[in-house]
Amino acid sequence: MNVKPLVAAFLLSGMATAQNTQKMTDNVLLQSFGTVHETAPYSKINAEQFMPAIHAAIGEGKKEIEAIKAYKQKPTFENTIVALENSGKQLGRITKILYHLNGAETTPAIQAVVREASPVLTEYSNDVSLDAALFARVAAVWENRKQLKLDQESAMLLEKTYKSFARNGAALQPDAQKRLREINKELSSLSIKFSENILNVTNAYMLEVTDEAQLNGLPEFVKEAAKATAEKAGKTGWVFTLQAPSYGPFMQYADNRELRKELFLAFSSRGFKGDQFDNQANIQRTVALRYEKAKLLGYETWADYILEERMANSKTIVWDFLENVKKYAEPAATAEIKELTQYAQSLGFNEPVLQRWDISYYAEKLKKEKFAINDEILKPYFQLENVLDGIFTLANRLYGITFKLNPAIEGWHPDVRAYEVFDKNGKLLAVWYGDYFPRAGKRAGAWNNSVQSQWVQNGKEFRPHVVNVCNFSKPTATKPSLLTFNEVSTLFHEFGHALHSMMASGQYASISGTSVAWDFVELPSQIMENFAEEPEVLRLFARHYQTGEVIPAELITKLKASSNFMAGVGTMRQIGLGMIDMTWHSTVPTGESVQEIEKKADVGSRLYPITEGIATSTSFSHIFAGGYSAGYYSYKWSEVLDADAFELFKEKGIFNKEVAESFRKNILSKGGSEQPMELYKRFRGREPKPEAMLRRAGLLQ
Ligand SMILES: [Zn+2]
Repeated sequence: MNVKPLVAAFLLSGMATAQNTQKMTDNVLLQSFGTVHETAPYSKINAEQFMPAIHAAIGEGKKEIEAIKAYKQKPTFENTIVALENSGKQLGRITKILYHLNGAETTPAIQAVVREASPVLTEYSNDVSLDAALFARVAAVWENRKQLKLDQESAMLLEKTYKSFARNGAALQPDAQKRLREINKELSSLSIKFSENILNVTNAYMLEVTDEAQLNGLPEFVKEAAKATAEKAGKTGWVFTLQAPSYGPFMQYADNRELRKELFLAFSSRGFKGDQFDNQANIQRTVALRYEKAKLLGYETWADYILEERMANSKTIVWDFLENVKKYAEPAATAEIKELTQYAQSLGFNEPVLQRWDISYYAEKLKKEKFAINDEILKPYFQLENVLDGIFTLANRLYGITFKLNPAIEGWHPDVRAYEVFDKNGKLLAVWYGDYFPRAGKRAGAWNNSVQSQWVQNGKEFRPHVVNVCNFSKPTATKPSLLTFNEVSTLFHEFGHALHSMMASGQYASISGTSVAWDFVELPSQIMENFAEEPEVLRLFARHYQTGEVIPAELITKLKASSNFMAGVGTMRQIGLGMIDMTWHSTVPTGESVQEIEKKADVGSRLYPITEGIATSTSFSHIFAGGYSAGYYSYKWSEVLDADAFELFKEKGIFNKEVAESFRKNILSKGGSEQPMELYKRFRGREPKPEAMLRRAGLLQ
């Protein structure tokens, strides 16, 4: 994952210069830090400083905007677009530190600041993006763009700046603007209502079991958790819920088929029961309003509006992509279901076809039988320090960069390690922080972000300060931190985002580093996961923490084979979700029902007998309450990119310096300064093809 705060990019791109701020106050957030590479002095920063600093910095930002508007000369790229890009740097520096702390080391006081700051920042952001006089200047530069002879990067900055206004309705007539505001407001409450309905229906459901014999097949840890849930709810026996940690293991392990069916039906009918938590009308209204908004802004459908800013930048490209992958996945999935059915029958299952509530259950058993491999066998080979050393060695062999621990750079917690990263010519490339152990105050999961981005201003270059945060098990007195293979992949993934941030080499912060199209941002991260599976790379770091023995080749083979188990079924599910999303969003809404839409689009469900009373869309929060509308395809799309790009390394040698150099030059260093498809073609010599992903997943020989 790569994190971007939810505030307009041009407000969040950096750091104040010492001259503007030094004399303002004693607030450390408003001063030059005076630290190594101007890194944030975390020990001197406290929650009380943020709001006053934010208000002061907004004041500065407003002055900068007023200065742009008051400029007597006619609007130029420099006096308008670059000036706007460089406005709000001080506010950017403060909010980046705030959001970083809120994720990695929060406190009730920091959370209170975020709650107080969010509406203030949104209001400021709206003030800027709806400022008619400012937009008039931006539009004047845009209209004149053909005469400006801008370099590629500057042309992109101009386009992104203009479009960020236009896509928010700045170019519309007042009555249309008014309607747009109404639509945005209603869409926002519909999205909240959608989530609330799912949350309510999920929380309202309980499967109570009082007879332990009904729990046959469930591992002890699952039973213990169910017992704890029951106690919390004031019940005797065991309680299972529709929350993933309870639902998932029950479907995988419970021998009792009737109870699996009951739980499955409860889960799959969320938002589709016709009760007070039903989401069907909500979906129809959302889809209609999105369409109206797209038309108002001059687009054919909602998907056209969304995809304008994506690598897959038309609905035809997305549909062709989904159809193409489906062509390969469908026969594989059908064969997998057939094999699973025969396996189930060999265990005494006596019906001709498996129902949907049987799939996880038998798949879990078959997987165990086919691949005798698990985390406990692998973990001793993945000691955190060794894996990190391996990553540094890999980065050095590919790009010639080196990492030097520098204890003089302050972290936000004693567990944090800060490194100076040097380029092959010895120049400082970045500051990189690794923060790997869970603690109260740290969000779950793993992410990359930049506390300072990269840009050039008045001839001075600012290098990035990059953060990788994960939650791995902490070392104990007798055991170091040992990772599962999944965690090793996570470490490589986040490090890939970090390389994208660190190797940025542009002029403008808002289009540098990981500020790229949504369906392109996971290429640099996911490609690193491929390296983690290569025997040549594993030999660099996967050594038994007690014996020093290098991981046996057969374990690697088993690991790869097991990760492809039921890949056809999994791919069909993802393609089906992508098609449901695109069917709702790439056509003119006609009021077709949820069932009608899903009958056409949900290709993943066609592998099983029809089950009445269930639906996917009514709990599809990604597209109706998250940011994935007309974007769900991007999960598979990113896999295609990383597999296809990595295949060049496999062809030419995975440590091949020329391929690495080309990846750096054409992808990592470029950020969002050019169209991603152009960047990709320059690296790969052609557009991406899905074959490498299909081969990797075992769906194509
Ligand atoms: Zn990611």
